[in-house]
Amino acid sequence: MLNMFTHKNVITRFAPSPTGFLHVGGMRTALFNYLFAKQHGGKFILRIEDTDKERSKKEYEEDILAGLSWLSLSYDEIYRQSERGEIYQKHLAKMLLEGMAYEAEDNSDGTGKVIRFKNPNEKIAFEDVIRGNIEFDTTELGDFVIAKDMHTPLYHLAVVVDDFEMGVTHIIRGEDHISNTPRQILIQRALHAPLPIYAHIPLILASDKSKLSKRHGAVSVNEYRKEGYLPEALINFLALLGWNPGTEKEIFTLVELIKEFNIEKVQKGGAVFNTEKLDWINKEHLKKISPKDLEVRVAEALNVQDSIMVEKITPIILERINKINDIKKMATEGEWTYFFEAPRIDEAKLAWKDSTPEAAKKHLAEIANLLESADFSSADSIKRAVWDYAEKEGRGAVLWPFRYTLSGREKSPDPFTIASILGKEETLERLRTASAKLSQ
Ligand code: GLU
Repeated sequence: MLNMFTHKNVITRFAPSPTGFLHVGGMRTALFNYLFAKQHGGKFILRIEDTDKERSKKEYEEDILAGLSWLSLSYDEIYRQSERGEIYQKHLAKMLLEGMAYEAEDNSDGTGKVIRFKNPNEKIAFEDVIRGNIEFDTTELGDFVIAKDMHTPLYHLAVVVDDFEMGVTHIIRGEDHISNTPRQILIQRALHAPLPIYAHIPLILASDKSKLSKRHGAVSVNEYRKEGYLPEALINFLALLGWNPGTEKEIFTLVELIKEFNIEKVQKGGAVFNTEKLDWINKEHLKKISPKDLEVRVAEALNVQDSIMVEKITPIILERINKINDIKKMATEGEWTYFFEAPRIDEAKLAWKDSTPEAAKKHLAEIANLLESADFSSADSIKRAVWDYAEKEGRGAVLWPFRYTLSGREKSPDPFTIASILGKEETLERLRTASAKLSQ
């Protein structure tokens, strides 16, 4: 087995092409490179591969930077290939001089010239950390083009020159790059560059095992931010796309991941993207946020100032959401507002299934009487005050109108919880108003 620790100074890089928004696949590559560098006290480089002038856009570069910063994946150095023309020229000139490359007619349109690599037609073998030994016969690659001209290097040349110049020791990237590796190793040899260690990580698949794409919902990292996922949750989720600790543990902070992540344990097979799992992980991370922080987010999402009420309802809200944006979404659907003002009651809905409005009226009045002298310090104490009555008269017949009166909603937390939050005065007021309505 190859020893990952032979390199004293680990240097990794994330090398996105700014030709589209940063998606989860790219971000996972960035994360694995980041974790590996940090756990070895090494350096993590961001390299913007913007040599394709037509397809590269500044807004995509900004999206990549924003995504990394949102997820707190800080890089030690940043480079743009568009600013490194002279470096590629220097290496091209040397290759031409040494006969490792040559100018040739451009077969594609027959007009200009291109620079081709002089393929020595060697067999190439390398040891991939994840995929084991990989061999290629490079004969079939022919004398491939490495630059359009001295000022326009193509992908393979720029990548190899940069990895060499930047001292990159470990190349962790998507398995779609395996087929590029033989060409890149050939160029390395021509440049007398050392062979880096490769780790090609598995593709990310949708739940139907097809390649993850836009039609599977949000794939751009920024979308997850907008949807209200926590960055620490997305990091945790991405880390588990292809890796697991071999234990039951699933919830990790970034610091824990730096300690426990192991590139050698990354699986070969595709990693399935599962939104329910992301939601679950997000909820677990939500539970770790301090109550005060959560209250600020709840107040913001609901646009309310009543801090006493916010403090009371935050734990209840937390139980019912997966992500912060659910608070607002549920509020626009009428959830939570009943904590702040009496709901509108549809009398026709007050009676439970086979019960009658008369019965509902009676139950509401009786609950009000029972609660008059009840202890409102907890949901349990309220429950105790009405429970015998509900058992005697039928739970549905009694508790449904109780809950509906307080929330005005067919689904909501139980009436005891709501009553304990509203307090005695407001609870009795709502019960009596509803009961009075039914007599009209
Ligand atoms: N720029 C390439 C890409 O975005 C990555 C190059 C590499 O990782 O070697 O796919």
